[in-house]
Amino acid sequence: MKRVALLGATGSIGRQAIEIVEAHPELELCAATSGSTPLDDVDAAFTQVGGDVEEILERAQPDIVLNAIVGFAGIHATLWALERGVDLALANKESLVAAGELALAAQRRGGGRILPVDSEHSALYQCLEGRAPEQVETLVLTGSGGPFRGRTRDELTTVTPDEALAHPTWRMGPKITVDSATLANKGLELIEAHFLFGVPYARIEVVLQPTSVVHSLVRFRDGAALAHLGHPDMRVPISFALTYPERAATPLAPLDLASLTLVFEAPDTETFPLLALAREAGERGGTYPCVFNAANEAAVAAFLDGRLPFLEIAAVVADALARADGAPARDLDELMEVDRAARAIPVA
Ligand code: NAD
Ligand code: MG
Repeated sequence: MKRVALLGATGSIGRQAIEIVEAHPELELCAATSGSTPLDDVDAAFTQVGGDVEEILERAQPDIVLNAIVGFAGIHATLWALERGVDLALANKESLVAAGELALAAQRRGGGRILPVDSEHSALYQCLEGRAPEQVETLVLTGSGGPFRGRTRDELTTVTPDEALAHPTWRMGPKITVDSATLANKGLELIEAHFLFGVPYARIEVVLQPTSVVHSLVRFRDGAALAHLGHPDMRVPISFALTYPERAATPLAPLDLASLTLVFEAPDTETFPLLALAREAGERGGTYPCVFNAANEAAVAAFLDGRLPFLEIAAVVADALARADGAPARDLDELMEVDRAARAIPVA
C-alpha cells in the first residue's frame, strides 16, 4: 500500500489525482488539503482546508506527497518532502522555480526523490531514464503555444480573461491557463527542467507542437532524438508519478497514429516576451527566478481581476526583474522576503 498525501485536492490536478487513486487498490489517500474550498466529498484519513500543510503532513506521514497546490504557496510542501526523503510527485512547478537552489539542498540532505507531474517533465524523465548525462545533447520542451499562437502584439492589446482561459488542448486551473497564453508557463517549465535534470539553459530548447501530442524530446549526441507521445491528458503523468516504477494501467484509449499529423514551429518570443524573460532570469540565477515567478503570479491575478491588460503582464515582470538585485537567498525566510517584495510592485 502506498499512502498518498494530496495537496490541492480540489483543483484540476487534484481531482484527476483522486480518480487515479480510486482506480488503484495499491494507492490510499492518507491526507487531502485545499486552500479554501471544502473537502466534504473527499475520502481521506486526514483533511485540512487552509492552514499550515506541514501539520497535516506530520500527522499523516505519507509515502508520497502529490503537491498540486498552485503558486509559491506550494513551497512548504516541496521542502517538507525533500528534507525528509519522502517521494515528491511535483505538479507545483512554481516552488521549484522560486526555490530551486534551496530545494536541491534539501534534497541532498534528505534524499527525497522528485517525480515530475508536469507533462513535459514527466516525458523528459521517461526519455532520460537510465542514460548517462554525457550522452544527452539537449532537452526539447514542447508547448501548444496557447490560444493566441500566431497573433501579433496589436491583436493582443484588448484580449479578455475569458479569451485567455480558452486553452486549445488542455483543461487546467486559471493561473496555469493564463501562463500558457503568455508563454510564461513554458518559461517556468524551462527553469523547472534546469533544476530537475541539471542541464544548463543553453542546452534546453523550446518548440511549439500545437496539438500537444508530443510531450517533449531528448536529443542525444549520436543524432538520435527520443520523443514521448500521448493524449493531452494529465491522468497519465499523475499515474506515472504515483505508481512509479510500476507504470500502472490507465483508462485512456491508445493514440490513433494514422490520424495524427505532427507539426512543429518556433515560439514567437517577441510577441510573447515572458519566455525570453524566464530564460534570462534562469541564466542570471540567484533569486531572479523567484522574482520572475512572484511578479508573474501577481500580474496574472490582476489580469484575471480585470485590473491589468494582457500585454502588461510581461511588462510587470520585466519591471520587477529590473528592480531586483537577484542576490541568492540563504534560507526560506530570505526567499519569502524576496517573493513578497516582488509582489509588492504596483500592477495597476
Ligand atoms: P487549480 O487552481 O485548479 O487548483 C489549485 C489547488 O491548490 C486547489 O485545490 C486550491 O484549493 C489549492 N490552493 C490554492 N491556493 C492555495 C494556498 N495558498 N495554499 C494551499 N492550497 C492552495 O490549479 P491546477 O491547474 O490544478 O494546478 C496546480 C499546480 O499544478 C500548478 O502549480 C500548475 O502549474 C501545475 N500543473 C497543472 C497542470 C494542469 O493540467 N492543471 C498541468 C501541469 C502542471
Ligand atoms: Mg506542462
